[in-house]
Amino acid sequence: MTALGASFRGQVTLDGPSGTGKSSVARAVALELGAAYLDTGAMYRAATVAVLDAGVDLDDDEGIARVVREATIGIGTDAATEQVTVDDVDVTDRIRGSEVTRAVSPVSAVPAVRRMLVDAQRALVADADAVVVEGRDIGTVVLPDATLKVYLTAAPEARAERRADQLGVTDPARIAAIAEDLRRRDAHDSTRADSPLRPAADSVTVDSTHWERHQTIARIVELARERAEQ
Ligand code: C5P
Repeated sequence: MTALGASFRGQVTLDGPSGTGKSSVARAVALELGAAYLDTGAMYRAATVAVLDAGVDLDDDEGIARVVREATIGIGTDAATEQVTVDDVDVTDRIRGSEVTRAVSPVSAVPAVRRMLVDAQRALVADADAVVVEGRDIGTVVLPDATLKVYLTAAPEARAERRADQLGVTDPARIAAIAEDLRRRDAHDSTRADSPLRPAADSVTVDSTHWERHQTIARIVELARERAEQ
């Protein structure tokens, strides 16, 4: 048994498709474990802001890589606050908008972009005693030796409903559009050649379809503490 509140040391990776509530779960797990937190999706979204502002075509891999190489992406690792910058401009709200959400999958499929951001991600967490990192390829590529790897998933309908709830959407046609957007992004993310979305061989799958958010958080915290003790 772990003493309540015993400190956690190690790395927790949290991967999975869009719309599982992964970010809010990851942040809460980090707070509970007293760990740093890195949202790698926010880094791909910030890179996408730079690409959109540069007016580069989303088919132009070389142009995308050049813009991302020249951009300075700033991201904090404090689970209690969220701040993302591109060239010192705050883009924390903008990265969640539909323009960025539509363009992020093609940008993140460019291998040179992935190499740059993966290097940055490893550097950001290198000195942390305890960290929770969330994304699509964290357990498979970024931190293959992590203490605990979680693959967080939920049924597609549950994910669309959660995303609709988050956005305050109740109109069935708009919920269907959200479901379609999630489906398109997942298909793109899991079929790309470089680091596709898939569970790491040694990951634990947590299916949150029938769980409240607090149950998912508690389960992952429990797994992390168990794993850290071994
Ligand atoms: O997690 P979030 O929905 O913010 O991620 C946005 C997009 O960034 C994903 O749809 C995916 O294309 C990309 N991503 C990625 N690898 C990661 C994290 C996010 O390719 N580690």
